[in-house]
Amino acid sequence: MRDLRSVAIELLKATSLSDGQVFAELDAARYTTVDYYRMACHILFQCKRCGRCCTTGNPIRLRMEDARDMARHLKIPLNRFIKKYANPDPDRPEVLNFKHILPCKFYDARAAGCKIYPVRPWSCRIFPFLGVYGCEERVVVNESCPGSVETMNLLTEALEAAGLELNGCGFVSPEEVRAAKIFLRQALEAL
Ligand code: SF4
Ligand code: SF4
Repeated sequence: MRDLRSVAIELLKATSLSDGQVFAELDAARYTTVDYYRMACHILFQCKRCGRCCTTGNPIRLRMEDARDMARHLKIPLNRFIKKYANPDPDRPEVLNFKHILPCKFYDARAAGCKIYPVRPWSCRIFPFLGVYGCEERVVVNESCPGSVETMNLLTEALEAAGLELNGCGFVSPEEVRAAKIFLRQALEAL
């Protein structure tokens, strides 16, 4: 797990100025304050391996590139993979849905983990913080995911302590803010 204190400090720094104020190439904010909170949560998140998301997730979405990676991993042609494992989403033709869910076909109950973890789809990679669950105004904690609840509680406590620490240090320079934003954006780059 990443050091809670340092992630909280980076988050406070990153959200003290907008993206447009520290990235010369941008004239407006690309990511919001809430997005940086999501990134910090994602960095700190530790899965409890309870299996709830893999056994109750419905639907489980796949992008075409996820399907390609999984087909390659399973050493079968893409069209066979799609026929066997996916259905087109009725509302979004660019997205597929896993056919075998509740539980997901790739969930290994004995190992409490994913059989295709290195190539799990994007929707699984962003869970539980980087997706938006009906609200863009704040980070939505997924109450059914114990790791999600714990992460938010820990981060909330750490932010209080980090706030006191940063207030004692005085001015945060735009360079420090920029570095903090880049640090948190790693959460997205690593997906
Ligand atoms: S519900 Fe959360 S803690 Fe449980 S397996 Fe899924 S991600 Fe991990
Ligand atoms: S693909 Fe893997 S991580 Fe995603 S729901 Fe299935 S078992 Fe879970």
